[in-house]
Amino acid sequence: MNIALIAHDKKKDDMVKFSIAYKQILEKHTLFATGTTGSLIEKETDLPIKKFQSGPIGGDQQIGALVATNDMDIIFFFRDPLTAQPHEPDVSALMRLCDVHLIPLATNIAAAEVLIHGLERGDFQWRTYMKNREEGSIS
Ligand code: PGA
Repeated sequence: MNIALIAHDKKKDDMVKFSIAYKQILEKHTLFATGTTGSLIEKETDLPIKKFQSGPIGGDQQIGALVATNDMDIIFFFRDPLTAQPHEPDVSALMRLCDVHLIPLATNIAAAEVLIHGLERGDFQWRTYMKNREEGSIS
């Protein structure tokens, strides 16, 4: 599965801890991330990650483009709800596209725990089925 990891600055610690805790699950998948989040996770876990631009300069939109083509399967997006983000429109657009395309999205570590256990159990195999059925997918 293609998995995206994104964390706002005050949530990057949570994301690193989450990635360390669930490295054995994450390493079985293809990982993508916004620039700074991806670099931090790589440094702390040695997981290979395809890094996009930093979120505020377009990384969220790059991940959104993969959601739009149904090429992203799960998104862990640890948002900071207490700090104004310069790229709030991009954040909203990404979440909206997840709802449009029915992509599982966890916006905090508590929800992420549930999603990742579901991923380990195989609860998201329906994504593979959907991708094979739909036109416009690159995989
Ligand atoms: P970053 O972007 O990983 O490059 O910090 C995250 C974001 O704010 O969307």
